[in-house]
Amino acid sequence: MATIGGNIFAHHPYGDFAVALLALGARVVLAGQGAAKPLEDVLRERGRSSTSPIIAAIEVPRPRDPRAFAFAKVSRIKPKGVSVMSIAAHLPREGGRIRGARIAFGAMGPTPLRATAAERVLEGQSLDAATIARAAQLACDGLDPPTDALASAWYRREVAGTHLKRLLEKMERG
Ligand SMILES: Cc1cc2nc3c(=O)[nH]c(=O)nc-3n(C[C@H](O)[C@H](O)[C@H](O)COP(=O)(O)OP(=O)(O)OC[C@H]3O[C@@H](n4cnc5c(N)ncnc54)[C@H](O)[C@@H]3O)c2cc1C
Repeated sequence: MATIGGNIFAHHPYGDFAVALLALGARVVLAGQGAAKPLEDVLRERGRSSTSPIIAAIEVPRPRDPRAFAFAKVSRIKPKGVSVMSIAAHLPREGGRIRGARIAFGAMGPTPLRATAAERVLEGQSLDAATIARAAQLACDGLDPPTDALASAWYRREVAGTHLKRLLEKMERG
């Protein structure tokens, strides 16, 4: 069916949409569990739990400035399509400074994951060549890329910073 709920739990190299939702700070309502929870908590708990609650609804905050959000899907020429990795960044700015940076990677761990080290480098800063370079250097900190038929863990680590840099440079240009 290719539902959004299914995409959240699809294993790499699928699950691109879940990466965008994670960067946007989506919250998830689980059937029979009342209040919405952050998507990242639901992803983490699913890995630990033997039960699999059903996603009944997803709440996505609308970015105030659509230019503060960007997404990149990195795929090979052959086979074209599925992701070597996907990256989403939401970098809202106030007075030129980033407030509430969120960067998420897909196919860089068992579930979509936030690149918290890169987020910390960007938080409170302006998006310029120096901060982009520092964020790119730390892109893989805390991530645990898999080896699969598309790419090895080593390759994913090698190229993640370059792809994050390109995405952030595109956002810098506006
Ligand atoms: C050839 C091919 C290429 C594709 N390429 C891509 C791609 O490049 N990028 C991409 O993002 N997607 C891609 N997809 C789509 C991706 O596979 C689906 O989005 C994903 O499998 C979800 O499909 P589904 O909703 O049918 O869920 P399923 O595949 O049926 O389920 C996926 C997992 O989620 C669980 N699940 C399903 N619904 C819920 C729910 N509501 N609550 C809790 N758990 C749930 C299931 O139990 C299962 O563990 C591709 C699919 C195909 C067939």
